[in-house]
Amino acid sequence: MNILLDAETIQARVKELAAEIEAAYPGTDEIHLVGVLKGGFMFMADLVRAMGPRVTLDFIAVSSYAQSTRSSGEVRLLKDLDTGLEGRRVVIVEDIVDTGLTLTYLQDILRARSPKSLRTACLLSKPSRRTVDVIVEHIGFSIEDKFVVGYGLDFAEKYRNLPYIAVLDGE
Ligand code: 5GP
Repeated sequence: MNILLDAETIQARVKELAAEIEAAYPGTDEIHLVGVLKGGFMFMADLVRAMGPRVTLDFIAVSSYAQSTRSSGEVRLLKDLDTGLEGRRVVIVEDIVDTGLTLTYLQDILRARSPKSLRTACLLSKPSRRTVDVIVEHIGFSIEDKFVVGYGLDFAEKYRNLPYIAVLDGE
């Protein structure tokens, strides 16, 4: 496994992203973070610890359909949010934006719940893989088209616990 982003580099960037998000929502409004399970759990945990007392959070779980139907953009909702979003300042917290299909789906269903505003924070982005033009206001790192694991991201459910991001051997 080759380390692409070490733990220190990730932690420093997550702190910057936390400050960016707070600056985007000036004032005293609560900032409601929606973490996307499972991949986004570690990013979410570090992000909220770098933010002030205005933060509340919830989780949603989605799973992409089989590769063959992926171009349809269909995504399965596995776990919905516990509370509504009406009138709230919401930020989606996702691990990685690849084709953009998952985030497009999430943004569409969450926007339909009438938040006061909706932004998206993604730790990683693979711009060369994008098939839909999705807007992500906060991006941690843009990376090449390599399959990465660690810091929440898995390969067959393994490696999510690594504190760094690595490229699997053979990639
Ligand atoms: P998209 O819908 O943008 O194509 O895909 C987003 C999802 O694909 C991510 O939430 C993640 O679950 C998965 N994904 C995309 N690239 C990678 C990668 O390099 N490593 C891992 N572990 N998952 C990835």
